[in-house]
Amino acid sequence: MNNTLIGISRDLIANFAIVTAYLFLTSQVIFKNKILDSTASISTKVLIGFSAGILGIVLMVFTVEFDGTILDFRQIAVIISALFGGIYASILTGLMIFFMRLFAFGVVSHTSVIAASNTIFLSLAVGVISRFNLTFWKKWIYALVVCNVSTAIVFFINLGTKGVLPAFIYVIMLTVGGLIAGYLTAFLVKAKSHFQRMEKAATFDFLTELNNHRTFDEVFNVSLQKAIEKNESLSLLMIDIDHFKKINDTYGHSNGDVVLKQFGKLLKDASRSFDIVSRNGGEEFSILLYDLPHKHALVVGDRVRSAISKHAFVLNDGQTIKITVSIGAATYPDTKEELIEQADKALYKAKMNGRNKVISNQEVLGGI
Ligand code: GH3
Ligand code: MG
Ligand code: MG
Repeated sequence: MNNTLIGISRDLIANFAIVTAYLFLTSQVIFKNKILDSTASISTKVLIGFSAGILGIVLMVFTVEFDGTILDFRQIAVIISALFGGIYASILTGLMIFFMRLFAFGVVSHTSVIAASNTIFLSLAVGVISRFNLTFWKKWIYALVVCNVSTAIVFFINLGTKGVLPAFIYVIMLTVGGLIAGYLTAFLVKAKSHFQRMEKAATFDFLTELNNHRTFDEVFNVSLQKAIEKNESLSLLMIDIDHFKKINDTYGHSNGDVVLKQFGKLLKDASRSFDIVSRNGGEEFSILLYDLPHKHALVVGDRVRSAISKHAFVLNDGQTIKITVSIGAATYPDTKEELIEQADKALYKAKMNGRNKVISNQEVLGGI
């Protein structure tokens, strides 16, 4: 009996190690860039159900048999599947475990049918729990309670009074293992969301959601390198809002922010999907136009200038205002620093020449 107890404990610990490795690997590899909540796509949910099914099957490989009843952590696979993929994912996981339990692990018998059916029941029950409007931890704990109760009943049905001891060991192991797995899952989800938030903050400007200066710099380097290698053009539009200080002074800083936010969206709408639109700082923006000759870049610049001058920017109190921009344009071949300097110089010229203008280092376009 002592040896049996050691065997049970050892294999359940092995099961727990597998769950831990699974959680870490899936969160770092398969679901690295995926959102794991109710908004996840169908394919993500199927992937969750399938990968948790594989986990359940692997767990059954490292199982311990006790008088025809096998002990393992496959229920944790069902819980993970339900809480991240919802009821359809948990049913998929449950079915995979059901068939593998029946046909791959020993002969089909009265006890194996009851044990396998327990997994189907749990995949439904935990799937329903996943739909409740509860916190992650409450769902996890309810799911563990349901798994413990129903699996303990299965032990009792299959083994009678002889099932009390393994059921007791199982409940303790599933509770402890399940809580640690829950903690680990919560930690990985939180760490992932923090990481994504930090990555976003380091890449995009939080007000306009355009590229920030650092991203502009990185993309500029890559684009310039590509333009040199492929002998293609690269144009830069430097955009600065005219008299923006006055907007802050007249309507307040918060209205200034509202205008900047709408301005960012307008710039994005006015350019092509692959143009690099950035907020370079304050009320200074830029558009990097890949493979666009100078003449065309000026046309794009003037389209942007015109769209902005016509747009009614809505302030917090509903009133609308108009603004204008000055734009400086320059096109590769030049070094990066020269290109920026030339665009800046052209922008300065546009300011000096009355604003609301697009100016290249060669010609003047637009204006009222
Ligand atoms: P010019 O036509 O010569 O460009 O005049 P300007 O007033 O736009 O230029 P200036 O550089 O004097 O002022 C820029 C203003 O932009 C001052 C600053 O308070 C404002 N600004 C910069 N960043 C933000 C921001 O994030 N929010 C708000 N509301 N204002 C900002
Ligand atoms: Mg300005
Ligand atoms: Mg400025």
